[in-house]
Amino acid sequence: MMKTSFILSASLAIHAAIVAHEAEIESLDRAIGDGDHYINMKRGSEVIAGMYNELLALPEDDVLNKIGMKLLSTIGGASGPLFASFFMSMAKVTKQNVADTPLEVAAAFAAGVQAIMQRGKAQVGEKTMLDVLVPVSTQFTTLAAEGKSSIAIAQALKQTAYQGLESTRNLIATKGRAAGLGERAIGHLDAGAKSCQVMIHTVCDLVIKGAHE
Ligand code: ADP
Ligand code: MG
Repeated sequence: MMKTSFILSASLAIHAAIVAHEAEIESLDRAIGDGDHYINMKRGSEVIAGMYNELLALPEDDVLNKIGMKLLSTIGGASGPLFASFFMSMAKVTKQNVADTPLEVAAAFAAGVQAIMQRGKAQVGEKTMLDVLVPVSTQFTTLAAEGKSSIAIAQALKQTAYQGLESTRNLIATKGRAAGLGERAIGHLDAGAKSCQVMIHTVCDLVIKGAHE
């Protein structure tokens, strides 16, 4: 499932999906952040997509690690180091145990999400990307442990990501720039949660279409 070719296809698809959601991502961070989240995501995903040829011949853990290191030096703001730790942590787990089965990929994903929580000192319910990532990770592990197929898992995770995104609407932010807004943040989705929902949706669609074969 998580072969280098799949990671690279995913990086191209993610870049296209981020660009396709410019208006939405941009307006969310403008409403309750500082308005740079779309630019950060666009620049980051563009740079990674541009590494395609350089990464093509590398083993998957090297690919994930290089993506993380590149994001660290490319994306500014809060989200850059958070996404960087996600990929570098996934790389570490993948190096120890090549992520082939859904359960192994779920474990690598969980380690990545854990790294974001540690780096950002945040949890579910703080109106951040974690409100998408944590429920998706939990559901991924559960479904994989039940022996569900990759396609069934991908279909379910799209829903979970969407629900996680929606859950941010009525939350007050306690991390990130929106944390100073108090009740004024209520009614707005979190921009980082939106980006994550878009990225998860995109990767799940690739799995459903069979791009992982
Ligand atoms: P900045 O907040 O520095 O302007 P971005 O706009 O690129 O950076 O990213 C903002 C997003 O980062 C938020 O919408 C939120 O989802 C996420 N975020 C901010 N702080 C944290 C944190 N401590 N833990 C997890 N996610 C966070
Ligand atoms: Mg911002």
